[in-house]
Amino acid sequence: MPEESFKYVFGPVPSRRLGRSLGVDLVPCKTCSYDCVYCQVGRTTVKTVERKEYVPYEAVLAEIQRKLDGGAAPDYVTMSGSGEPTLFAKLGALIRAVKAMTDTPVAVITNGSLLWMPEVRAELLDADLVVPSLDAGTPAMFERANRPHPDLRFEQMVDGLIAFREAFPKAIWLEVFLLGGCTDDEVRALAGYARRIRPDRVQLNTVARPPAESDARPVPQADLERYAAYFEPPGEVIADFTGVHDQQQFAASREEVLDLLRRRPCSLEDVAQGLRIHRHEAAKHIQHLQEEALIRAQIRGDVTFFVAEDVPRG
Ligand code: SF4
Repeated sequence: MPEESFKYVFGPVPSRRLGRSLGVDLVPCKTCSYDCVYCQVGRTTVKTVERKEYVPYEAVLAEIQRKLDGGAAPDYVTMSGSGEPTLFAKLGALIRAVKAMTDTPVAVITNGSLLWMPEVRAELLDADLVVPSLDAGTPAMFERANRPHPDLRFEQMVDGLIAFREAFPKAIWLEVFLLGGCTDDEVRALAGYARRIRPDRVQLNTVARPPAESDARPVPQADLERYAAYFEPPGEVIADFTGVHDQQQFAASREEVLDLLRRRPCSLEDVAQGLRIHRHEAAKHIQHLQEEALIRAQIRGDVTFFVAEDVPRG
């Protein structure tokens, strides 16, 4: 079966933290309760807290089954995608159905914004690993970093994470994404909330180039390492600067991406569609090519385009 016949499931792709991860995209790009300034998938186009069946449940399940039948053998089936997976109203049923289908553990990568809803906490109970985000220690930092849907409140979000920990005995890895310009006091406040969540692991991360907003700056590596000691358990500094919803490492050729960007400037979406690869793979290639200074970003209106560095500036 050709790869492009899969609409909701991608991979398995190598993931530093999850091994071979079979990704499941449960909302259309970019449907999210946040609009994080560091988001590598780009600006949120549908900012919502409405939970519904954004993608057809049966079709998603059939694709997962087809991947597994095809010998995919991932280390995790990972509910993640190009938006917030807990917005998918049948997430709990889907996790249970996958668990009935395979012994492969199920991971959920979530921004954690909806865990204050008892039904969302209940739906995640059958997962084996939950990776929620906490990027703020104050309401102001929350607004600055995550630009949440107006119905979301900082304290409510944190209380949801704490309540989930009390109900969920399996692994929680807390992802903390820090923006340049945050103060020591803000990070200490964040670490105080993180202690109350009692995660099994804390992973510290910062901005890659370029995020959704070009003025979002990274925290220097030395500061990240200093901040790591504020956390309990101590934070692990993520060295490769990948974002929470961008954890899959690429499997396709980056040369193809570079060739395409030599021919014409493209957005992330253009690259994904042009090369028939998942946008996560496209984002990863773009990030690495930028780190090697082989391509540059050009912001036009609301869209970030990428162009090869050896193409003359016009
Ligand atoms: S990083 Fe995740 S939570 Fe933040 S806007 Fe992007 S998809 Fe949503």
